[in-house]
Amino acid sequence: MYKESRVLMDTYCTITVVSTSRDRAQHAIDEGFAEIKKLEVLLNYFSPDSEITAVNKAAGIKAVRVSKETLEIMERSMEISQATGGAFDPTLAPVISLWKFSRDPSASAVPSPEAVRKTLRLADFRRIAIDGSTSEIMLGEQGMEVDLGGIAKGFAADKAVEAIQALGIKAALVAIAGDIRGYGRNLSGEGWNVGIQDPRPEAETDKPWEEIFAVLHLNDEAISTSGDYQRFFFKDGRRYHHILDPESGYPADSDLISVSVIAPEGVVTDSMATAVFVLGADRGIRLLEAMGIDGVLVDRDRKVHLTGNLRGRLTIVREGYKITDK
Ligand code: ADP
Ligand code: MG
Repeated sequence: MYKESRVLMDTYCTITVVSTSRDRAQHAIDEGFAEIKKLEVLLNYFSPDSEITAVNKAAGIKAVRVSKETLEIMERSMEISQATGGAFDPTLAPVISLWKFSRDPSASAVPSPEAVRKTLRLADFRRIAIDGSTSEIMLGEQGMEVDLGGIAKGFAADKAVEAIQALGIKAALVAIAGDIRGYGRNLSGEGWNVGIQDPRPEAETDKPWEEIFAVLHLNDEAISTSGDYQRFFFKDGRRYHHILDPESGYPADSDLISVSVIAPEGVVTDSMATAVFVLGADRGIRLLEAMGIDGVLVDRDRKVHLTGNLRGRLTIVREGYKITDK
């Protein structure tokens, strides 16, 4: 089992590969990371040279021809936006920019209600025009912007896994922060066990990702976790976090603090985790079950809501968390 971590897409990425040959494993790991790097370059909202920035700059002016990768992720984003009634909406970007969710809380700010209202008017995924035949994308109005931060990591995990699989590697796990996809069987002949991070650990720690509340066996599928604890700041006793409700332009004030979604593809789990966080426990579970995919939803009382398929599959490993029947 060979494992390597690198910083890409502004986070820690780890690729684990099972192989009988060190050289083949290293080559596969390099190819996996190359795939993630390629997507980072195409999709980075903050880079002046990315294709996404080119699309954003041309908003309301002209269509921009993009790579097949950018076209594909935009099409998949639209599907999820539609399926979630807009709870997932990548055109929220101008509103997200108003909130300076930063690791340094002193740099963060609550924007004025007028500013939120004005920029929220620009957000609507239905105003993204995609022409698959020419591979062109156009946003409907100047000032509109897309940010694929809620879907790109899952998509990249898919592409890295595909690249590794194409090299004949029988088992691998790709983790881009909380977006993880695995396939095949590891050395003990099993799939991959993954932990879900504890959204409210008892004590402060500098390795919060090592604090987990549940474990799940991953077969040939992906899992993504979104929560209000990843990027946030406190102001006047209120937690402001980085998942926005497209209805209000404010951090989603649902009953949830963490959402994990399990499905065959990372592009779906990443975006759906964000969307279900916005929708809340009841609507979230109903939507996941209607789509035939699975979820682990933690509410404010640390009650854990599961889709039907997951019953018996999830192991709680931390006191205070309880699976609810409701
Ligand atoms: P992370 O990127 O921390 O893993 P998510 O996958 O939940 O977490 O994505 C959150 C990011 O997605 C935010 O930082 C923001 O860029 C963007 N975002 C926030 N709210 C939404 C939303 N309702 N729909 C689509 N994207 C969103
Ligand atoms: Mg997400």
